[in-house]
Amino acid sequence: MDERTAQSSTVELTATISTNLVHLHSMQCKPTLKAYKYRIYPTDAQVVFFAKTFGCCRLVWNKMLDEKKQAYKKKERIPRITPAKYKDEFPFLKEVDSFALCNVQLQLEKAFKDHFRNRKHFQLPKFKKKRDKQSYTTNNTHNSIRVDFEKSLLCLPKLREGVKIELHRRFYGKIKSVTVSRTNDGKYYASILVETENPRNKVVEPRSKACGVDLGLEHFVTVTNDFGSYKVEHPKYLLKAEERLRRLQKSFSQKQKGSKNSEKARLRLARQHAYISNARNDFLHKLSKAIIDENQVVVVEDINVKGLLKTRLAKSISDSGWTKFFTYLKYKAEWYGRTFIQVDRFFPSSKLCHRCGHKNDDLALHDRTWCCPACGEIHDRDVNASINLYFVGLGRPEVTPVEQALVDDRSPHGLPKKPSCDETGISTSYG
Ligand SMILES: [Zn+2]
Repeated sequence: MDERTAQSSTVELTATISTNLVHLHSMQCKPTLKAYKYRIYPTDAQVVFFAKTFGCCRLVWNKMLDEKKQAYKKKERIPRITPAKYKDEFPFLKEVDSFALCNVQLQLEKAFKDHFRNRKHFQLPKFKKKRDKQSYTTNNTHNSIRVDFEKSLLCLPKLREGVKIELHRRFYGKIKSVTVSRTNDGKYYASILVETENPRNKVVEPRSKACGVDLGLEHFVTVTNDFGSYKVEHPKYLLKAEERLRRLQKSFSQKQKGSKNSEKARLRLARQHAYISNARNDFLHKLSKAIIDENQVVVVEDINVKGLLKTRLAKSISDSGWTKFFTYLKYKAEWYGRTFIQVDRFFPSSKLCHRCGHKNDDLALHDRTWCCPACGEIHDRDVNASINLYFVGLGRPEVTPVEQALVDDRSPHGLPKKPSCDETGISTSYG
């Protein structure tokens, strides 16, 4: 392709995309908050400043929590406390970013509010320990937070000279706040919350009207859309990484507590945990994006994930990250103007024959295939369920006879087989 053709096709593409954007824009134009996470590389002095800030936030959190809990025990009204209360007793609190301390107050108030709203789901907040993950949040006022894309610098309150930041992607919009965190394996990250009119990366026309997504135990999900069905396996690199994690856990537990070797083993374990969490998020983001790109309507079953977690299936379910997967599908659907439907969890997606509508009440959890007693059709359990969900997406929950969808084991279009984490171990370029 010569330069001119390339140029004109780019122009054409941009034109199509912008028409789509205008169309979607008219549907929803309220600004959305989007977080961008970057690795940062603080200098020694900045590391000290971060450590001080984390420490002060922890101190304020624990002091406030203690007072609130005591009032709670005595059945008194829970007092509203501001960080200023402790500044005389601990003058070093004045040295750190005051927004960070303010946010501790807000976070703690929210934690109590959540608890009183739903005691079963939200436990009372806990005291913070030094070995937990450390973080603090600061707000942007009068341009106190700036990002210099040219020099790769992030300027924060009290760090006006800027922290070195790896800006692997650009963002547009107004910075609302930044959360600085330090992971257990000693890496620093900044999560920048940006108010943006258009959080989408690129809007693609959906090729398929609807799709049904069935969650599996053997496979991660089974998907059916206009073009047929496919199963998405648990990624091999994740299975391998989990195997390695178990080995590292064992090795760590065998080391003598407090020894140098124990510290080395702890670090290796923390790194592996971080790798798995990044790789899993990467997989879930890419899979959900691929599904949202391809389909206009996405239907999933509203399984009682929490209920299932209590059963013996717990391990494989918590590992498979379904809850997160749903969250990603949901917000991406909102961003890209797609419809996300969660069917009632009593909808018998597995038990209904998609061909004749017969309901097979004898189906057990371990039955991977079954033969419909009414029409004789042989069903793959997961494929049948996803076809029923697909029908819901097409607006026909009443099942009518259709052609058996084709089944193949390919991964969906555009879904890479390997994680694309860069060496920083983080990759957040999704949308
Ligand atoms: Zn049947």
